[in-house]
Amino acid sequence: MHTHFHGKAPLLAIHGGAGDLRPEGFSPAQRLVYESALQRVIEAVFPELRAGCSALEAAVEAVRLLEDEPLFNAGRGAVFTAEGHHEMDAAVMCGQSGQAGAVAGVRLLKNPVLTATKVLEQENFVLLSGSGAEEFAREHGQIFEPAAYFHTPERMAQLEKARMPNTMALDHHKFGTVGAVAIDRNHHSAAATSTGGLTNKRYGRIGDSPIIGAGTFAGDSTCAVSCTGYGEPFLLRNAAYQVAARMKFGRANLSEAVRATVHEDLPRFQGDGGLIAVAPTGELCLSFNSAMMYRAWAAADIAPRWAIS
Ligand code: ASP
Repeated sequence: MHTHFHGKAPLLAIHGGAGDLRPEGFSPAQRLVYESALQRVIEAVFPELRAGCSALEAAVEAVRLLEDEPLFNAGRGAVFTAEGHHEMDAAVMCGQSGQAGAVAGVRLLKNPVLTATKVLEQENFVLLSGSGAEEFAREHGQIFEPAAYFHTPERMAQLEKARMPNTMALDHHKFGTVGAVAIDRNHHSAAATSTGGLTNKRYGRIGDSPIIGAGTFAGDSTCAVSCTGYGEPFLLRNAAYQVAARMKFGRANLSEAVRATVHEDLPRFQGDGGLIAVAPTGELCLSFNSAMMYRAWAAADIAPRWAIS
């Protein structure tokens, strides 16, 4: 699926992950639960963007709200690692300044995206991991939660299922990584992504989400991108930056760049998933090569909308 709009700034798009669940796999009630969550977030954040908040603030706020939703694989709803913990990754990038901040493998942080934003603000480093990132978070007054906060029965059932063939599993069924991209009234761009990664992951595995250029990228001269899907191919293909590079060096427009990345390049590397992207030109694109992607979007002249399959 590839959707493309041309809207007036400000623009906002969010995703709650891509997966392989076919439309018939959703009961009407389940569909409603997810659609309502997407609706709540887009309708909470878009008015702030319209009222003048920055693209960075809007992208971070949308991801923070999605992290607080147990439905999605980030923050509260993060999936379990093989050891039965949660190791979360998040990144934010400001297209105006070109600055970014990210954390990887953090365990009990309520909102990894807020800590990634603190990393962005201090400007000395871009990516912090594990206990060091948690120490930084503590020093910056970030909120930690007890392990029970992240324990959801659905996630435990997924871990048990994934353990059977002893494999890592993309959250194919009900949940997903979350992300947001925005263009503000001043035509500046930003992207944010947050994830619990893959169920049953081990060895401190880190996917594409916190890696600038792979799962997250923003640049005012091109676009802002947030990805979701099998992290390894997205890492290998520099998926988020690939979209920007196609625009910058290949003279593609946003839609052409996204289509080539999601529907031509990534599938050659088993890169199941998708991405959302916006450009200061007013282009907004939501595209995935998997069966579904939780997503919602809005622009000054496009009323908030949401979709799953
Ligand atoms: N891209 C994420 C990762 O590989 C997973 C996802 O998007 O659901 O960590």
